[in-house]
Amino acid sequence: MDYVALRKKMVEEHIIRRGITTKRLLDVLLKVERHKFVTQDLSDSAYSDFPVPIGEGQTISQPYMVALMTDLLNLKGEEKILEIGTGSGYQTAILADLGRVVYTIERMKNLGKNAFCLLDTLQYTNIKTKIGDGSLGWPEEAPFDRIIITAATARMPLPLTEQLKEGGRIIAPLGQDFSQILTLGEKTKGNIDYKQVCGCVFVPLVGKFGEKEK
Ligand code: SAM
Repeated sequence: MDYVALRKKMVEEHIIRRGITTKRLLDVLLKVERHKFVTQDLSDSAYSDFPVPIGEGQTISQPYMVALMTDLLNLKGEEKILEIGTGSGYQTAILADLGRVVYTIERMKNLGKNAFCLLDTLQYTNIKTKIGDGSLGWPEEAPFDRIIITAATARMPLPLTEQLKEGGRIIAPLGQDFSQILTLGEKTKGNIDYKQVCGCVFVPLVGKFGEKEK
């Protein structure tokens, strides 16, 4: 399988064609080997335009959604980023290549362990990891320049908005089940102004400040 060609096709057809043109981001999407973040039997689907199962009922997000959320974070290279929902670790790798340091939290022990181990193997040295309820944030390490939640919740978890730095950005799918809106917030003078971006579908954020476990 020619993965370099598949990544080029993914970036051209699913990312650039939909209007994302930030060069730093496109370069990273061309570099990160997405097929390594899914199980071997699904590696052919890794570059397709849909989420792929990663076990435990969870998914690696669609490439376009990863690109869109990252682009909206407007990373310049110096940011301290908090990611909630490590999943496969693919989004984490993209963030680590574009920001200064990434703090990532995954709720499911096995998924987290696999992703953290893979990121280690890929020699990322600017990623701090934790298993736990990300809806509580990471208060000991706050504040953060950017916060990204890759699971859906009815409202922005309060601890996370409190842990966002002045001038910082937070992004999350807000809503429930199949009706969610990707929402971007920016903190100015202690308040967060929210902008709705587009409809999306994510697995739920399960936790104290998220959804109840079903
Ligand atoms: N961005 C990931 C990737 O690139 O593979 C995909 C994330 S997946 C759509 C959402 C993840 O959020 C799942 O792995 C799920 O277990 C995790 N999750 C849900 N609730 C959580 C919580 N309260 N804290 C941390 N992780 C959570």
